[in-house]
Amino acid sequence: MAFVAGTAAVPRVAQRQSVRSAAAVRPASMATAVASSRRASFFGAAVAQTSPVPQAKSPVLSMNLRVAVVGGGPAGSCCAEELAKAGIEVTLFERKMDNAKPCGGAIPLCMVDEFSLPEEIIDRKVRKMAMISPSNKVSQIGATLKPHEYIGMTRREILDGYLRDRAISLGAKPINGLVTDIKIPSDVNSSEPYVISYSDYAESTKGGAQGKTLEVDYIIGADGANSRVAKAIDAGDYQYAIAFQERIKLPAAQMEYYEELAEMYVGDDVSPDFYAWVFPKYDHVGVGTGTVIDRPSIKKYQQAIRTRAADKLAGGKIIKIEAHPIPEHPRPRRCVGRVALIGDAAGYVTKASGEGIYFAAKSGRMAGEALVALSNKGARTPTEADIKGSYIKDFDRKYWATYKALDILQSVFYKNDKTKESFVELCDDEYVQRVTFDSYLYKTVTTVNPVEDMKLLFRTVGSLVKQSVKANAGNTA
Ligand SMILES: Cc1cc2nc3c(=O)[nH]c(=O)nc-3n(C[C@H](O)[C@H](O)[C@H](O)COP(=O)(O)OP(=O)(O)OC[C@H]3O[C@@H](n4cnc5c(N)ncnc54)[C@H](O)[C@@H]3O)c2cc1C
Repeated sequence: MAFVAGTAAVPRVAQRQSVRSAAAVRPASMATAVASSRRASFFGAAVAQTSPVPQAKSPVLSMNLRVAVVGGGPAGSCCAEELAKAGIEVTLFERKMDNAKPCGGAIPLCMVDEFSLPEEIIDRKVRKMAMISPSNKVSQIGATLKPHEYIGMTRREILDGYLRDRAISLGAKPINGLVTDIKIPSDVNSSEPYVISYSDYAESTKGGAQGKTLEVDYIIGADGANSRVAKAIDAGDYQYAIAFQERIKLPAAQMEYYEELAEMYVGDDVSPDFYAWVFPKYDHVGVGTGTVIDRPSIKKYQQAIRTRAADKLAGGKIIKIEAHPIPEHPRPRRCVGRVALIGDAAGYVTKASGEGIYFAAKSGRMAGEALVALSNKGARTPTEADIKGSYIKDFDRKYWATYKALDILQSVFYKNDKTKESFVELCDDEYVQRVTFDSYLYKTVTTVNPVEDMKLLFRTVGSLVKQSVKANAGNTA
């Protein structure tokens, strides 16, 4: 049920004024009791009629909106940062403060600027991308890049640590704990708090982590693909890929080959519906692959990418093996009551490229900004309709075309080895390279040149037909 004007949408500033007047006539020691009972007494239509009594400075700052962000990855940290900057009371839960999220760690150039990332957290600046076809034909992408343009290669433990620390330095309160349960209020349109249960790892003793609870007014679910917050609000499921990666430490001479180069391999051997990658990091490469349609065979596909790249990986030592789900599309419900989802918890990874870091950070920032504006910097609790009409609507409007374009690209080109061969062939085209890089680096889907677009369409169809004819000739020979 949506909030109704005059009831749940009562501005928090009005509540604060009322409570301040109550607090003023009580001894200071009673202020906490007033704060915890405030909603039953001060929320609702009656509050609006209460004349605000001018007050001297009161310590009842706890009247402000209390937000919990569950998950300290890029999504959660960027959201917490916005809230903290605006002075909103925000608690950031992270179960593992040095978490190394299984990930290729590739980020677009626009993220470096938009999120003011220092150069030191970027391991390598990739300026060439080798696209390698099922028959091992190589298309080198990168000639269209300007000197300052690159794809950033990061290690997630470094990137996530930086973003989290920044949010904390701005005022987000960190809790090193695992959120285990969320008690939803019987009426989410009331002022009743959500109760978060968590294991506090910072205070764990020999007997184990200490179980604790925290009451909040709003929850942001930023806890990744296996989100507990999403389950708690029955956000619905999504289709997901399983992705596997090995970090392989290479001898220095071989690492030089990957100085500014990343590789993407396509072919039914390495994945029926995705690509496999070799992404360089500071002293090792991340080698991985993913699939939605044949998840049980992921190890077979991983073996295949190691075989395809064997000459370049020779002498390498596996230093880490990691795997994780990648969402394929947004969840059916991304905002329920006073809970909203961001990042992988919401399902914001693009098909075909499997990119999610930028969208996680961006959705976190957008949700944070919406909460700040709609709550009037914490003086009012935003409703489900408020958040759906702002953060959710704005995010969809901004990125719908990007998601759709990559969705189409995947369904046309990742079908079989013939279409994958055409895909790599097309990547030789300078116009394709420019459009592809621009849309990746700057997150824009633009029609750069209608005449070139038409030519590209003809070349695409031509290439698909050519590969199909070749394959048929091979079959009848
Ligand atoms: C193998 C692989 C390769 C990838 N490569 C790329 C790539 O190169 N580029 C790219 O853009 N994207 C890539 N992605 C996708 C990218 O990793 C995600 O989209 C991104 O991490 C989403 O960020 P997030 O903050 O939403 O979630 P996450 O990064 O998953 O962060 C969630 C955080 O919440 C914490 N958490 C979870 N549950 C709880 C709980 N109950 N209590 C407390 N804390 C909790 C976790 O410890 C974690 O730190 C890849 C994914 C995989 C699996």
